[in-house]
Amino acid sequence: MPCCMSGKFGEWCKNEDTLKISGIDYCIFHLPKDSNSKRYNKIFNARIEQKISESIELNGVCVLNGADFPDGFSFLGLCNSFSHLSLCGCRFSNANISNVKFDNSVDFNGAIFQGIADFSDVNFYDNVSFMDAKFVGYADFSRAKFNKDSRFYKTVFENEANFWLATFMGNTSFEFAKFKNTSDFSETEFQSDANFFAANFIGWASFCKTIFSDNFATDFRDIVAGLTGSNQIVLFSGVSLKSLIFTSIELEKMLFKYCIWPDRLFLERALGHTNYELMGEVEYPEVEELYRNLKQRAVTEQDMTKASDWHYREKLMCLEQIRRHNAGCSRWRNLLTVTWWYWFSSGFGERPDRAVWVLLGLFGVLLACLAGSLLFETGLTSTPDWTKIKDMLLAWPQYALFVSQPAYTPVCHLGRFAVLVCSKLLIPLQAALFVLALRNRFRR
Ligand SMILES: [Zn+2]
Repeated sequence: MPCCMSGKFGEWCKNEDTLKISGIDYCIFHLPKDSNSKRYNKIFNARIEQKISESIELNGVCVLNGADFPDGFSFLGLCNSFSHLSLCGCRFSNANISNVKFDNSVDFNGAIFQGIADFSDVNFYDNVSFMDAKFVGYADFSRAKFNKDSRFYKTVFENEANFWLATFMGNTSFEFAKFKNTSDFSETEFQSDANFFAANFIGWASFCKTIFSDNFATDFRDIVAGLTGSNQIVLFSGVSLKSLIFTSIELEKMLFKYCIWPDRLFLERALGHTNYELMGEVEYPEVEELYRNLKQRAVTEQDMTKASDWHYREKLMCLEQIRRHNAGCSRWRNLLTVTWWYWFSSGFGERPDRAVWVLLGLFGVLLACLAGSLLFETGLTSTPDWTKIKDMLLAWPQYALFVSQPAYTPVCHLGRFAVLVCSKLLIPLQAALFVLALRNRFRR
């Protein structure tokens, strides 16, 4: 009788000799671990080497799906020149895969690691997949090197997961992965896209000095952190956040210490771009809310400089929504909104440099009003009245500084009105905005 697992795992072992355990036939590869006495382990080790050699001679593809590996089995020293190694659904008790170099692609999809899975210093030169795999014991991927794409889609880590100093050179997916215990990504390097979409961090997750590539996307949307009601958190410390994608929903689960923030977060940069495949449609209110929540957190943490930055971006998102709403109308329609004027005059009360330029501009307008009025009175003439011009120029700072009886007052009503509006309304208002912006920026 062929092995009872032969049908389930693609018949690769159907020609193997079988042993009867409780009336059921098993090949040496699928023999349950409980029955693996030392004698069976020896046979397993010898047979697996043989099997790998046979596969290499045949087509280079080595299939060992569903095999039950004995305790402490090591890949070290095994022939490694297969073009693809398939270990889908395999069971490992304590797996010693440390320092092994896999030259070609490997699939651990659905594999179960019941004891310690030691992948420390492992080197995957080609794609590797741990999709739906389950690590019951401690998973050690410290200093592991993933030279191409790696997939941990829906992988479950029941115990501690350690990726300290690991390097991911290709695209990496931890989508829907479940970290039931602590996970350590300290000093891990992601050189391409890193996708943690909907990952579940039930234990403490640490991303200390983790390197995320600024030129790629690091997706942390929809992550779950901690059990309901607990305060488990995902910590980012000393990390550049340029490529990090998250919304206000995930923000609650994240803690940032000594991080490098970009001027514009990824979520904002993705607005209106269709080239970020993984983003879907990003809406302005979503970004506005993120900035608002970041501002609130910065205020709580007494980080007023950051609060100022987030306030500016929040209001800018609000203005963008108005612009979008008015897209079909005349461009002048934007000028009718208070938000636009607030942005234009002082950068939402956060940009003193902008406010001072506008203030200087208003001084210019005042001068133009005075000069216009004078020109209206005297008309264009080849012999200008220098006394009047001198008075007008003297009156200019006097108006600006609210002197009660300036040296020159326009004769025409329109000129008087324009000068009055400029000097008694616009300039004081703008001066107040400048002071406000200055205070907001430097009160900290
Ligand atoms: Zn079998």
